[in-house]
Amino acid sequence: MLVTVGACRLELVQGDITHQEVDAIVNAANSALAGGSGVDGAVHEAGGPSLMDQTRREFPEGCETGSAVATAAGNLAAQFVFHAVGPVWRGGHGDEDRLLRSCYSRCLELAVEHGVESVAFPAISTGVFDYPVDLAAEASLDEVRQFLEQRQRPSLVRFVLFSDGHFGAHARVLEEMVG
Ligand code: ADP
Repeated sequence: MLVTVGACRLELVQGDITHQEVDAIVNAANSALAGGSGVDGAVHEAGGPSLMDQTRREFPEGCETGSAVATAAGNLAAQFVFHAVGPVWRGGHGDEDRLLRSCYSRCLELAVEHGVESVAFPAISTGVFDYPVDLAAEASLDEVRQFLEQRQRPSLVRFVLFSDGHFGAHARVLEEMVG
């Protein structure tokens, strides 16, 4: 599914984030940047050890929830990996909406700072961190749409959803948003 926001494209695909041929992919990391399961495991396995070497060297304190840091992408097709730390779902009482939105906008800021024209996101926080996918889709797609409307960059933002259910949830939200 593809919509346009001004001159930019906002796209949903079902697939594996590590296979995307874009300038930057986003990793759903944890605050220690210590590696983990899900997207994090897949990104580090596909990218190789240079990613962890760089995060250990440049970000020994890790990264705050709601923020993101950039590294090179090692063996991946992308040039950069943006390691974003999403919130753990705490029933909606832990400022999760703001923190999740902030992950997406910080990654888009990093894209602009690094001259990145295309960026692929996974559904941050919707795995081990347990964020309800419908709510995550609403927050993330709304945040990205607002950023693109205001900044008109990067030219392509792709959401890469791993499962049918996650793809469907995001497609429903995007249809409503543009409908
Ligand atoms: P978090 O800890 O932020 O919840 P996870 O990696 O556990 O991160 O899950 C985030 C989302 O990424 C989940 O919806 C999960 O299904 C999905 N996912 C897992 N592996 C991949 C992958 N290789 N590519 C894209 N999405 C993935």
